[in-house]
Amino acid sequence: MTAFSSPRPFVYADHRLACSGVDLAALAEEFGTPLYIYSADAIRERAGMLQAEFATTPHTLCYAVKANSSLAILRMLAGLGCGFDIVSGGELERVRRSSPAALRAVVFSGVGKQTWEIDAALHSEILLFNVESEAELEVLSQRASLAGKTARIALRVNPDVFAETHPYISTGLREHKFGIAIERARQVYRHAATLPGIEPAGVSVHIGSQIRSVEPFAQALQRVRSLVEELRADGLSIRYVDGGGGFGIEYGSQTFDAAASIAAYAAAIRTVIQGLDVHLLLEPGRFLVAQAGALLTRVLYTKQNGAKHFVITDAAMNDLIRPALYQAHHEILPVQEPSPETPGIVVDVVGPVCESGDFFARDRTLPELRAGDLAALLDAGAYGLSLASHYNTRVNPAEVLIDQGQVRLIRRRETLDDLFAPELF
Ligand SMILES: *Cc1c(COP(=O)(O)O)cnc(C)c1O
Repeated sequence: MTAFSSPRPFVYADHRLACSGVDLAALAEEFGTPLYIYSADAIRERAGMLQAEFATTPHTLCYAVKANSSLAILRMLAGLGCGFDIVSGGELERVRRSSPAALRAVVFSGVGKQTWEIDAALHSEILLFNVESEAELEVLSQRASLAGKTARIALRVNPDVFAETHPYISTGLREHKFGIAIERARQVYRHAATLPGIEPAGVSVHIGSQIRSVEPFAQALQRVRSLVEELRADGLSIRYVDGGGGFGIEYGSQTFDAAASIAAYAAAIRTVIQGLDVHLLLEPGRFLVAQAGALLTRVLYTKQNGAKHFVITDAAMNDLIRPALYQAHHEILPVQEPSPETPGIVVDVVGPVCESGDFFARDRTLPELRAGDLAALLDAGAYGLSLASHYNTRVNPAEVLIDQGQVRLIRRRETLDDLFAPELF
């Protein structure tokens, strides 16, 4: 397997940005822009890092489908032994179509599961329902009884742990809509054990996303551990601990050491669950795919309004909404490597969408970009296309997967006919 010296597989070769030896400018020629580009090698490397850390711990990595739900990537991750964390019937169908054998390694999270989604998951014999409320538990019991099935469940507990991240992606405080307050959990498990069609089998927690310190994960799991011990004392056979996802990356850094970083995370988790005799489930999303992907875009125009310089790209917030939604930072690299003497200029990089929030960078010093130049928005493999919209009636980009130097188109660019297909007039 290729080992990447940088945290990202996008590096200059012969002064042109490349991914596993594939020239990004050539991809732009062949597939057009904006274009999502993913490195299969980089995803494999990240999955391998996590699996190596837990080599001696019974575990399953249930990749969080919502981070990047491309069928080709799901199939590849299933091939590496991953299960999946899903949050909708649509995501369940993605797993069925890409990797049906992995259905039995699916955990189903989410605060608003609908009956058709519950039924589909019951029929798919998934591993675990992460139940987020008592009301959901009742519905699940009814649907399972009707179907003559038994649903293995974990309650998703809310541990009331603070984790430093953007407020929109923090989920582990009592004020958030997620999970069941951990103090109430024991009582709810007791009730669950009496319900037909329900088998309490695990405890689950997910405290948020893009969390860069290890401590909140350890704190949350420590609380989960105590609960597991109490539940076992109550006679329940708790076999799974689901630690959720949420481990972050460093978007701004050229030197982020993913291996060392994940080693610290894994060590903390192993320490907390040591001797508990459970099968560990983890739900990584971003860590596996974010840095494996880039969004390639072409500069349409540049302009100056007063003192401000704008670089207007053919990609927009509908293609990659993270800057607009979370004030997220994405590194931007020109595809043609600038010479070290090229002066930087302070620019806003913006898309064509009619919103002032449609920006990729503000007041950022970048080498001069001119109309027609290509640039790559890095770390776009997670929460990129999966969060895309058709706002301004814009088609979604194509996606290519580069696997050991082989280029594969895994999603064609949408056409306007694709967009209009559902409309009746
Ligand atoms: C979003 C989500 C994840 C994945 O989060 P990452 O930050 O991408 O690792 C895992 N589990 C649940 C329940 C989620 O909602």
